[in-house]
Amino acid sequence: MPTSERSVIAGVLPPRVQLHILRPSRMTAPPSPPILANDFVQMWQEIESDVLASVREVGESGWYILGQRVAAFESALARSSGRAQAVGCASGLDAIELALRALGLQAGERVLTTPLSAFATSLAIVRAGGVPSFVDVDASGLLRLDQLEDVLGREPSVRFCVPVHLYGHALDLEHLSALRERFSLRVVEDAAQAVGARFRGRPIGSAGDAMALSFYPTKNLGALGDGGAVLSDHADLAATCRRLRDYGQSAKYVHDELGLNSRLDELHAAILEKAMLPRLREWTERRCEIARRYLFGLQSRDVTPLPAPASSESVWHLFPVWVDPTSRTDFIAHMRARGIGVGVHYPQLINDQRALADLPVHNWFEPAQARRIAAGEVSLPIHPYLDDLEVDRVIAAVNAWRV
Ligand SMILES: *Cc1c(COP(=O)(O)O)cnc(C)c1O
Repeated sequence: MPTSERSVIAGVLPPRVQLHILRPSRMTAPPSPPILANDFVQMWQEIESDVLASVREVGESGWYILGQRVAAFESALARSSGRAQAVGCASGLDAIELALRALGLQAGERVLTTPLSAFATSLAIVRAGGVPSFVDVDASGLLRLDQLEDVLGREPSVRFCVPVHLYGHALDLEHLSALRERFSLRVVEDAAQAVGARFRGRPIGSAGDAMALSFYPTKNLGALGDGGAVLSDHADLAATCRRLRDYGQSAKYVHDELGLNSRLDELHAAILEKAMLPRLREWTERRCEIARRYLFGLQSRDVTPLPAPASSESVWHLFPVWVDPTSRTDFIAHMRARGIGVGVHYPQLINDQRALADLPVHNWFEPAQARRIAAGEVSLPIHPYLDDLEVDRVIAAVNAWRV
């Protein structure tokens, strides 16, 4: 209730009544502390000293943009991802745009992608001058590579694809690289949700020309702010991204192309390198343990986990379940009444967003599966600081729910 409304009521009602009106949460308070979708306060307790040491180091260095800390983080990130090159930038959105531009996307060219993702996936395509061109997803929510193959077979002029490793699952990298070879496809893997995921032991980012990461705080490898990176095995592509992120400068004050200002700060790079990246493996293991506990414990007929794709070694950015769309609102209310922070990823398909309404967007197939997931998906809390008792509380709340 806004404060102004409160004070109006407080002024006209007798004191005892006021108390109840002013503190509705006292009457409906959940029995235990809330279970958050993300717990940044607990994370801070663990990382504080490493973050503060990083801030001190950068402060004392007197160098704040594109210096040694960015270079060191880029090396560490490339090594841990199994790629030769990493280029830090300002966001995951920019990482996709930079990679598409570096690969030579031309204005008006179609880029195959998924309608079920963060809007940024398609926004980056549009910003790079491309036309988002949608195929449907499978039961796990991942781009249907069979439909991709069908389109490429019919339309040899299509040269670009931005597949998304959604929810932390790895797409079928063997199928993806086969398509890339066969159709000379240029592929930017959107790995914003899937850092560290593998397909049959093979790391994501190894099937495409480049991979885009986001360090938005909720991502598995998050910064204390915005950030992103392009990863690639191609030194020339990385060099182009380095120019493009810095106004298109090839040397100081020399501009042969039009770039962006999309630089990663020294501060974020130092924090990512010293406080976050060294903990990523442990954080990911905890996410996987929680996912296993959910998969074992969830038994409601009315709440089904979206299936994880076969052969994906997933990093569980989210834990998506599906409920009948007519009861989703009730299910979310049921969970929130028990103090459980659930979310929806994503309630509206990208191709239905108004921002794209007047642009030449293209649908190759009716996105029936994407629509089904958008209408019924709910994300259960999954983050490294959930303990087993909390996970069990979530399971009990789900299992107690009936349509
Ligand atoms: C978060 C996200 C992005 C965008 O990353 P930002 O750093 O927020 O720009 C792109 N794609 C997917 C799948 C994402 O989850």
